[in-house]
Amino acid sequence: MPNDDFEKKEYDALIVGSGAGGGMAAYVLATAGLKVLLLEAGRSYDPVKETPMFNLPKDAPLRGGSTPEKPFGFYDATVDGGWQVPGEPYTQASNDRGRRFDWWRARMLGGRTNHWGRISLRMGKYDFKPHSRDGLGFDWPISYEDLAPYYDKTEMLIGVYGTNEGLENTPDSSDGVLLPPPKPRAYELLAKKACDKLGIPVIPSHLAILSERLDHENIPQKLFPDNKLAQEVTQESMKSRAACFWATPCGRGCSIKANFQSTTVLLPPALATGNLDIITDAMVREVTVDKSGNANGVVYIDKNTRQEKFASARAVVVAASAAETSRILLNSKSTLFPDGLANGSGVVGKYLMDTVGAGIGGQIPALENMPAHNEDGASAMHMYMPWWLYKEQLRGDLDFARGYHIEFGGGRSMPGAGAFGGMGDFTSGAYGKDLKEACRRYYGSFVWFDGRGEMIPNEDSYCEIDKNQVDQWGIPVLKFHWKWSDQELNQAAHMHKTFAGIIEGMGGKVTSTVQTDGAKAIINGGAIIHEVGTARMGSNPKDSVLNPYCQSWEVPNLFLTDGAPFVSNADKNPTLTIMALAWRTCDYIVDQFKKRNI
Ligand SMILES: Cc1cc2nc3c(=O)[nH]c(=O)nc-3n(C[C@H](O)[C@H](O)[C@H](O)COP(=O)(O)OP(=O)(O)OC[C@H]3O[C@@H](n4cnc5c(N)ncnc54)[C@H](O)[C@@H]3O)c2cc1C
Ligand code: SF4
Repeated sequence: MPNDDFEKKEYDALIVGSGAGGGMAAYVLATAGLKVLLLEAGRSYDPVKETPMFNLPKDAPLRGGSTPEKPFGFYDATVDGGWQVPGEPYTQASNDRGRRFDWWRARMLGGRTNHWGRISLRMGKYDFKPHSRDGLGFDWPISYEDLAPYYDKTEMLIGVYGTNEGLENTPDSSDGVLLPPPKPRAYELLAKKACDKLGIPVIPSHLAILSERLDHENIPQKLFPDNKLAQEVTQESMKSRAACFWATPCGRGCSIKANFQSTTVLLPPALATGNLDIITDAMVREVTVDKSGNANGVVYIDKNTRQEKFASARAVVVAASAAETSRILLNSKSTLFPDGLANGSGVVGKYLMDTVGAGIGGQIPALENMPAHNEDGASAMHMYMPWWLYKEQLRGDLDFARGYHIEFGGGRSMPGAGAFGGMGDFTSGAYGKDLKEACRRYYGSFVWFDGRGEMIPNEDSYCEIDKNQVDQWGIPVLKFHWKWSDQELNQAAHMHKTFAGIIEGMGGKVTSTVQTDGAKAIINGGAIIHEVGTARMGSNPKDSVLNPYCQSWEVPNLFLTDGAPFVSNADKNPTLTIMALAWRTCDYIVDQFKKRNI
């Protein structure tokens, strides 16, 4: 449909952004019968046609290695976007390593879900009430029980493999929800053996990848018992998804739809309802309000014509990714909202969080000279280590308050760019026959361990509008302020020590520097790409932006469905929670429409 036709239609809801949060909002609202318009800043993208699943690294420039334009390699699914988006800068209050926030942005239909790692962990009971547990940070106004049914529904819809282990603060899904996990690989079994001795649990990972086809006969009925339209479009969508064949890099996207992407799992069934229109290349600048202070639409730049346009709807849902959502709110100034929309509390932009990250690698002699075998599997883990020291932490035995889980990798997947898949230091300048022998010996004997830990929100980590700079669309840009506290730094140092212990327990040699100084171990703010917070929910309009339904306290027809409403950032990767929360918020929006409150 030509863009101008959209302007004549009347919409119930307008959604900004098509990633995890926006895609889920489009799916839930359109299947509930609302007329929905979705505006997406990036270009249209069809993973089924565009995913370079089977291309070989050798056929790409630089053997597929990363470049500033393609930070995750030539074949990565991100077609536009990265740490820098041309013409769309952001600024830093400080350039010191520990004070920077590196901002990774997607600019394409489906956002970051086209290439995310698919690690899908539930937050646990403690994670919703961290302040009550240790006096630090803030409690969420909702509890695990409020979100548990939506975790179940989201996992059933997108397909998540894993097991229920009954471990502390690592919630089980309801029976029959999870798909069976793939078998552990050799290096994963060896790591488990070492961890067993150290008392670290190693359990099947939870990834949004179909280890078998979804039960399209029964799941849609369970998800939507009273909604035939939702059942039908969901059933067709599920039928079109194949099971994983464990052989291609998931970060390139998945043309057989075995892994979760908004563009393969959420947007197609939403479009099939006939209730959703999408405008791509539409860069939203601000949300507008009427005289009574209700949101009535958005102003956006049509990136193809560079013209400013207006789109209206009865409710506005912003899901542009956490910091970008705050940027839109802060840029939405009016007489009624001089400090930015929904910002009476002054909290918009505040309490920005990422995940604490630190990692080291090692070489394991027991994995040398393995017979040639295929252990590609999922691109991320088949096993992982959930946090295990809850009791010790509560007793005060550790010098940091919150936990981390361990993600790890290794094995013999197809080498990409770099000297023989990391073997450079071990081949000692050999060439010819000796080099071949060294490759056969060492290939597949390397492992790495990465911690993903909870960051406690603090007053020094936030974003604001930089008054001195606009992007190429004339939109004021964000300036980031960032600071880790000792809690995160001590946690990062603990990660290094733990990983060194595991590598040694595997009989291996640590190949990285093990830092005892957390400031040297920790990865830059933003680098883990788990940006959340900046418009938190709460129980009190004085210190929060949203009520427990992610509805603005001040603008009742404005909702946020990305990571912006997060009150804390548990060590659990955020996207499953973003989607479960978005579903819950959209059920509430539908209910508000039914009650004629919107
Ligand atoms: C390499 C990588 C690996 C990751 N691995 C994991 C993982 O394993 N597990 C996990 O939980 N999370 C992971 N993440 C994080 C995950 O991708 C994000 O948490 C999730 O995508 C956030 O969803 P979102 O909807 O908030 O944002 P996005 O998915 O980024 O979607 C936002 C959308 O809004 C659009 N947009 C932005 N600004 C505007 C505007 N002004 N107007 C209109 N549209 C706009 C963007 O173009 C984008 O399409 C990973 C991320 C990356 C990059
Ligand atoms: S490994 Fe499986 S989920 Fe990943 S891209 Fe290949 S088929 Fe898709």
